[in-house]
Amino acid sequence: MSQWKEHMAENDVYAAALAGKPHETCPADPYVLVFQNPEIPGVRHLFFDGHSKGTGTWMHLIEGEDRALLIDTAFGVGDLKALVETLTDKPCDVALTHFHGDHSAGAGQFGKVYCHKYDAPYLRDSIRSGHRLLPAGDFYRPEDVQPLDESLEIGEMEEGFRLVLGPGHEVEAIHMPGHAAGGTMFLDHSTGALFSGDAILSTPTLILDRFPAPHYPEYMTVTAFRNAIRDFLPRLDQVKALYPGHGRLGMGPELVTDMLACCEAMIAAPEEFEEYDYVDDPAQRRIKCVGQAMVVYSPSRI
Ligand SMILES: [Zn+2]
Repeated sequence: MSQWKEHMAENDVYAAALAGKPHETCPADPYVLVFQNPEIPGVRHLFFDGHSKGTGTWMHLIEGEDRALLIDTAFGVGDLKALVETLTDKPCDVALTHFHGDHSAGAGQFGKVYCHKYDAPYLRDSIRSGHRLLPAGDFYRPEDVQPLDESLEIGEMEEGFRLVLGPGHEVEAIHMPGHAAGGTMFLDHSTGALFSGDAILSTPTLILDRFPAPHYPEYMTVTAFRNAIRDFLPRLDQVKALYPGHGRLGMGPELVTDMLACCEAMIAAPEEFEEYDYVDDPAQRRIKCVGQAMVVYSPSRI
């Protein structure tokens, strides 16, 4: 079996076992499973099950001494704000790893959200147009779909942006483009937890021409992704584990070095790829896998 197929099989096993692992649920938002991080007392992982292959989305809640931070807001189905209020009584900031609707559509419940400045125009476009990604299936009630709110205040993040959650407790935004122009990872300096969104994860990073690129298209390429990983690499010793937006949690930092090697391999030989038949979409045909890292890409996005 190809290495990528082994990785996907592991991901499928992990996803199937999730509901059987110890978790909490909350009547305010019955769609989300809440998992306590086993190593970090102040971190919880919130899972919205999209009920179709690969669509389960992770959100992460970090509680500091003074403030809390919610990373991503999933599809906007269910009262996420009420759920967060049952988990923490600290004032809670909300920040996005990127604007895609499986991560941002719940943001309208919070009044203000932080988003990278290169993704802010995309987020504004998607709220204005009312276009949203909804999970497939009938497992949720239509009346629980939360409105996208045009009055949402967008705090634009750029390199070096930090949120302070308590004394000596800083979470830093790290620009990681490729999948989205304003893709952002969040590094909690007090624990070494890296919340890596859809940029670096246990399922393939998607860098595809089916994602429209009207703003900052130069950041929606494998080359931009490679350059950003290369810039970040000298700081990899600050990272203990990765907590992405989909798939497995707690991946080791070596996934980042594998991802750099994977990008270099695509740039060196974009025509050498394996056939990605995990999904039926003919636009997602090319996969490159190096070590644990996988990227599904379009040749025009190298
Ligand atoms: Zn996603």
